Amino acid sequence: MAIPFLSFEHTNSQIKKEILRDFEAFLDESNYIMGPSLESFEQNYASFSNSKFCLGVGNGLDALHIGLRSLRIGHGDEVIIPANTFIASALAISYCGAKPVLVDPLIDTYNIDPVNIREKITSRTKAIMPVHLYGQACNMSEILAIARDYNLKIVEDNAQGHGATWNSQITGSFGHINATSFYPGKNLGAYGDGGALTTNSSDIYHVAAELRNYGSSKKYVHERLGFNSRLDECQSRFLSIKLKYIKEWNLERKKIADFYEEKLSNIGDLIIPTIDDRATSSYHQYVIRTRERDALQQHLKSKGVQTLIHYPIPIYNQRCYSDLNFNPSDYPITQELSKTILSLPIYPGLKHHQLSIITQNIIDFFSDER
Ligand SMILES: *Cc1c(COP(=O)(O)O)cnc(C)c1O
Repeated sequence: MAIPFLSFEHTNSQIKKEILRDFEAFLDESNYIMGPSLESFEQNYASFSNSKFCLGVGNGLDALHIGLRSLRIGHGDEVIIPANTFIASALAISYCGAKPVLVDPLIDTYNIDPVNIREKITSRTKAIMPVHLYGQACNMSEILAIARDYNLKIVEDNAQGHGATWNSQITGSFGHINATSFYPGKNLGAYGDGGALTTNSSDIYHVAAELRNYGSSKKYVHERLGFNSRLDECQSRFLSIKLKYIKEWNLERKKIADFYEEKLSNIGDLIIPTIDDRATSSYHQYVIRTRERDALQQHLKSKGVQTLIHYPIPIYNQRCYSDLNFNPSDYPITQELSKTILSLPIYPGLKHHQLSIITQNIIDFFSDER
């Protein structure tokens, strides 16, 4: 039996009755956009994120973009991001007319390296965007200290970090404004696109609220050039249901990570994830490393085990950014990661016997019993 990289079977069957009941109520009430279900989800998610305000938007990329714009980041500004993040982190900066400045991560946690951040700060730097990659919280103590030293803004990219913590504080609560995604595959995923912003600043909240809705706070009155990027009523309802399960589902991910750690320690040249003592992870991805990555991926595929690479082509090698003339040799760690990382299946509902098949096939690969 093939083991898919991701399956919604278990989580869907767990909440199917609730979702269907709620969908009926949704049809009966005939509210589709900017209604009470959005407001209610925003309150729920603000409370989950230990933040004063939350704004539902169309997707994670829009959340990052609107977040940056609400801090008035624009043409000529620079924003620092990790070089090994998903393309959306960089695109949001480019949409503002600003420049993404890439920083090599730490080789052990895969998260942005605070030492490298300091080296890349210029007079044009306006913000840092820490990305809680694969679910592990970044070193927010250091990043906040840098932001204070240089008077920079922080926009967390919390698309992968739902429920992660740094020094017991939940991610999505550190920055001036923080963005997240509810893309179906994320830990908290909608049944379609979705995203949100969180902030403790009433001023920033009000700017962002206008930006997501045509730049308007009052119907047909437009204060600024805004966008149409709103989380709809249907997704808001579904997300409020799913939010009740996020802690349980993250715990299931943690148990899978613990199993992998137990079985995959000291196997060949395999490196398993390191979690900083001060951080917790939402275990959005479980990413291992080996020099024999491609052969291992091929071997697992032949055994019906699907794996992925997050991410195979770094931002500095993407054609859409050729005009920024990034130099790949400036990012030796990202380069090394892109050649050696492999993401194993990790999701609620992945069964013990499936996990055993995955780990046994990895062990066999390194013991040459293939
Ligand atoms: C998924 C993701 C995004 C973008 O979210 P969308 O909802 O797909 O637009 C941004 N940053 C990171 C790190 C992501 O994983």
